Amino acid sequence: MDDCIFCKIVRGEIPSFKVYEDDKVFAFADINPILEGHTLIIPKAHAENLWDISDDDLTAIHRASKKIAGGIREVLDPAGIACLQLNGRAVNQVVMHYHFHLIPRKADDPELTMTAWELVPGDMEQIKAVSEKIAAAI
Ligand code: 5GP
Ligand code: ZN
Repeated sequence: MDDCIFCKIVRGEIPSFKVYEDDKVFAFADINPILEGHTLIIPKAHAENLWDISDDDLTAIHRASKKIAGGIREVLDPAGIACLQLNGRAVNQVVMHYHFHLIPRKADDPELTMTAWELVPGDMEQIKAVSEKIAAAI
């Protein structure tokens, strides 16, 4: 896509700090890191979100995520790595080219707020009803 900032990164028209590349996938440092080592993995073929991306590209991203997480562990020795992927402006997807965040956190880093939600039991009847509808739709 001509105007897409991540397509431009794949084409080398915008500089990036590349950490990994294969025939389907490109991975690079996020320039607004939530924590040190924050890395983005994207498909080389433009797809906006989880609904659009091909199964092959999705598989390639997840395989790459394991390799890259290994590199991050070797270099930064984090206590954990959060994987985050946003779909749609309603959940604050800002760049409309699918991207998978790897966010390592050391034990003494600040809490990642998006990983620390409060567990509040839901309405089981409602959970059951929606689950059954989703299951029937797949
Ligand atoms: P989203 O909220 O869409 O999941 O996150 C988009 C991410 O892309 C943000 O973390 C933001 O810092 C990152 N980002 C936006 N523009 C650029 C860019 O030009 N280069 C790099 N490396 N990261 C970017
Ligand atoms: Zn794109």
